[in-house]
Amino acid sequence: MLLTQDIKYIQGVGPNRADILNKELDIYNVGDLIAYYPYKYVDRTKFYRISEINGNMPYVQLIGQILSYDQIGEGRTKRLVAHFSDGTGVIDLVWFRATKYIIQSLSPRTNYVVFGKPQLFKGRINVAHPEMEKADADILGENMSNVQYLNYQQQLFDDDEQTVTYSANNTPTKHLPPSFRPAYNTSEKMKKRGMTSNVIAKLMEKVFSMMTEPLPETLPNFILKRYNFISYDEAMRNIHFPKSPELLRKAQARLKFEELFYVQMNILKYTKERSRKIHGIEMPLVGKEFNEFYYNHLPFQLTNAQKRVIKEVRNDMKSGKQMNRLLQGDVGSGKTLVALMCMLIAVGNHHQACIMAPTEILAEQHLQTIRHFLGDMNVRAELLTGSVKGKKRTTILNDLASGDINILIGTHAVIEDNVVFSKLGMVVIDEQHRFGVAQRARLWMKNDVAPHVLVMTATPIPRTLAMTLYGDLDVSVIDELPPGRKPIQTIHQFDSHRNSLYKRIQKEIDLGRQIYFVYPLIKESEKIDLKNLEEGYDNICKAFPECKVSKVHGKLKPAEKDAEMQLFASGETQIMVATTVIEVGVNVPNASVMVIENAERFGLSQLHQLRGRVGRGADQSYCILVTKYQLAAETKKRIQIMVDSSDGFEIAEQDLKLRGPGDLEGTQQSGMAFDLKIANLAKDGIILQMAREAAQEIVDNDINQTNPNYAIVWKHLKDIRKSQINWGAIS
Ligand code: ADP
Ligand code: MG
Repeated sequence: MLLTQDIKYIQGVGPNRADILNKELDIYNVGDLIAYYPYKYVDRTKFYRISEINGNMPYVQLIGQILSYDQIGEGRTKRLVAHFSDGTGVIDLVWFRATKYIIQSLSPRTNYVVFGKPQLFKGRINVAHPEMEKADADILGENMSNVQYLNYQQQLFDDDEQTVTYSANNTPTKHLPPSFRPAYNTSEKMKKRGMTSNVIAKLMEKVFSMMTEPLPETLPNFILKRYNFISYDEAMRNIHFPKSPELLRKAQARLKFEELFYVQMNILKYTKERSRKIHGIEMPLVGKEFNEFYYNHLPFQLTNAQKRVIKEVRNDMKSGKQMNRLLQGDVGSGKTLVALMCMLIAVGNHHQACIMAPTEILAEQHLQTIRHFLGDMNVRAELLTGSVKGKKRTTILNDLASGDINILIGTHAVIEDNVVFSKLGMVVIDEQHRFGVAQRARLWMKNDVAPHVLVMTATPIPRTLAMTLYGDLDVSVIDELPPGRKPIQTIHQFDSHRNSLYKRIQKEIDLGRQIYFVYPLIKESEKIDLKNLEEGYDNICKAFPECKVSKVHGKLKPAEKDAEMQLFASGETQIMVATTVIEVGVNVPNASVMVIENAERFGLSQLHQLRGRVGRGADQSYCILVTKYQLAAETKKRIQIMVDSSDGFEIAEQDLKLRGPGDLEGTQQSGMAFDLKIANLAKDGIILQMAREAAQEIVDNDINQTNPNYAIVWKHLKDIRKSQINWGAIS
């Protein structure tokens, strides 16, 4: 019952602090509070000696006494400096704020445990705004036994200004035993109002001490036994106040598992119910269209990976169940062709198919590619995007409803309610990461029986992320590029070496190749970015006077964009200067160099996508990442990963490690957004695998929720469903 108690009634909280906790951390009751885990632990088991301290250390813990203090400086530099010693040396403790309060609380001849980050300032070590606590005698014993205190008089500074003036008025703080101490994230606002990590820790202590009964268990017994997990109660206590590193590890393992397990339970329960509720369209035939295409129109041999994926899709489509499949394949691996052939199966079974792209340009490109592939076949493919208007739109909508159109290619526009198909049998979603589950679900309503769904992504998703974000989908992978491609050589070049860059490019131009220059375009700095693009364009025109240069950016009308792209694709212009609008789309096999300006401003997966625009012909291609000279360590790493690897999956894994899942494209927009509190998809792959298997077992054995062994799971699932993700909206 304590768990549901309003936080403001807890002693030491009150309405003001409760208000901050509500607003800043979404903490309303005791249950919310204890679910607010520390983000790190500070090892308070080790004490340093001052003689060991230098200015390059992380946080350290010291024990010693205050020898004297001064208030120095004026105005904004006014500060309190206390000279602190443990007998092996002296450092300065410095406060810029709340100095009055601090002075009042300092006591002479008292041992303090001081915790903070040492810094070297004007030749002296200081620690600014340290955490300080009076030390109990018992922690001194062992740690201080070797410390020889000098005579304090000798240690006094010859600043001569101040004698030691201690205040007698001090409030003793109870010292926590030395251990791994929790550190909690707090916002600026919280810090300003005194709600520090320490205050939260004290609050946690208080709340746990109030609990007279163990916290109720949230995992079934057989899981606890199988994985040798500690109880929920023990895990929660140790996640906040670890009794030992070993117990901390155990608490983390159990809580991570639990978190991932319930995410997987949600996904798998939903998937199971979907497959029971929703029937699929049985498509028994390969069909005349597929065969005609395969034997008469296929311009090249399929790769083995392409063949395998087509088989997997074909098996789904004839199974009578609704297909929900994720197709992952690196840029240039030939997904479009696979999608087309799968759609032809639907057409051959007298259904319509539809392919949905995230942008108009990509939709247009798909239309062109698909029409080109189809040649003179009797299969009608049409485009429907926001810019298809008036009479043309009416015609397309009518012909779609009558069944005259076989394949519809479009953007989100195709899921609008007024778009009615005669018999929609298959939907391909390209670049899945911009589509959510809810949007996918809307598609199913487009036909009496839910159409088959193939989701394609060119941004390879690490397995752990896929299992969670797209955990309701079966997965196919194209892990092979069409033959004859030379690996793209990736080069990192500094901005300042423009001459050698231009020389290299001139060589390629002399060989008859074409060049991309890409500039970043980020909404917030759109104006500056466009200016960069314009300047870049001018410079490039000057540097390559004999070349014709195209320029494409998001401000152009679609028709203008198309015209420019067309000029480049046909080879009329040799250089394309563009913003990232070319990221998806255009396929120009003769282009052999991709120059990415300000490469430091792109994410890894975006760089990889851009790089995929070259290397499509038989020539050696290059990707040149141009950056400024001064780079942050993380940026350097990112660029190095690009230089070292051409494997989209590896890059995605690295991206996940560097940025964490929260920042990866797709996690926010996925519609399945979830906040993992403790598990980390970048690091906890093994735990995730365990959680998935356990969840699968329960869903397979007990979807009707009758087995008492699993009752605890179904009940807890229901409880957290209410409070967390709105899964109801999608099932
Ligand atoms: P993706 O969409 O996976 O990035 P695309 O479908 O655009 O890749 O294919 C990249 C290029 O490879 C296209 O020009 C396509 O025609 C070509 N291609 C696809 N499959 C093959 C194959 N089996 N053999 C040779 N070229 C192929
Ligand atoms: Mg593609």
